[in-house]
Amino acid sequence: MIDMGMPGYCLGLIGYPLQRSMSPRLHSAALEAMGLAGEYRLYPITPGPETYAELVVLLDRMRQGAIHGLNVTIPYKTVVRAAVDDETPTAHSIGAVNTILLQNGRLIGDNTDAPGFFTDLQQAFPQLNQGAAPGIQEALVLGAGGAARAVTFALAQAGWRVTVAVRNLDRAAAMIADLHALRPAFSLGICGLSAEKIRPRLPYLSLVVNATPVGMIPDVERSPWPEGLPLPPNACCYDLVYKPLETAFIRQVRDQGLPVVSGVGMLIEQAALALESWTGRQVPRQAMRLAADSAARSPARTQTEER
Ligand code: NAP
Repeated sequence: MIDMGMPGYCLGLIGYPLQRSMSPRLHSAALEAMGLAGEYRLYPITPGPETYAELVVLLDRMRQGAIHGLNVTIPYKTVVRAAVDDETPTAHSIGAVNTILLQNGRLIGDNTDAPGFFTDLQQAFPQLNQGAAPGIQEALVLGAGGAARAVTFALAQAGWRVTVAVRNLDRAAAMIADLHALRPAFSLGICGLSAEKIRPRLPYLSLVVNATPVGMIPDVERSPWPEGLPLPPNACCYDLVYKPLETAFIRQVRDQGLPVVSGVGMLIEQAALALESWTGRQVPRQAMRLAADSAARSPARTQTEER
């Protein structure tokens, strides 16, 4: 928590590109609802030979107290790890930092994507028996990028068996090897992202998570789910994509009569957890939800590239 003998919180987001990010709206709405002065700025850093030096300069400003909290998004969630002084166990396990805090003069890299996803999952689907013994509940996670790592970690930590379905088996194998190296007890598997490879798993799946960008604006007619393959008969589905709020995958799941949510709940929850770390205060999710709904209705804001 920051001692606010100052005009207000100076918070922000590092990434590239950022010009249409939803984060300033979410954080500004929450700060206002909390009665706190402050602003949330965008700090775009163009990828190039000077990237790391620019990151270090920005992080030094935080060390000196001029910035009170930073979020990190694509493409710097991994790069920034070398520039912080320490990491939380969650960030270390996932291998990515999306939130930076200042504690006793040291910069700590945290990751609120994993708890953000898991909290929203529990709220969206209370029927899922969270925390079941390993092997009892199985999830299929589509993709093996940064978001898939956070989701897989969160589920595996809660006792789920997770199969990662991918087009690039090497990338998934590397991700699973990293997670197993830290937590050998995790129950993890890999399969190809094809009807043929997924079909045998269908009866066992309680959850399908799309952690690929397929379906995101501007490619809104595409679904990551293999053509011709029915969805698992008893699964809840979660699409991490939130632009648009209703993706082709979400429509497909609804058409089959299964429960499904978009990634906007995770976006809000990961932002709220970061703001709670910076302010030490409870963050009203509803204020962020209203800001997200308003942003989603604004066409200018939906053409965004933030992740
Ligand atoms: P990323 O690191 O670029 O990873 C993307 C993954 O999707 C990779 O495994 C990639 O496979 C796979 N993929 C990409 N295009 C594909 C295609 N056409 N078919 C099959 N697989 C494909 O991205 P990320 O950061 O993980 O983000 C993924 C999505 O999650 C984005 O839409 C982002 O907006 C969303 N997200 C949402 C939240 C939230 O709060 N709701 C948070 C984080 C991310 P290859 O390795 O083969 O390229």
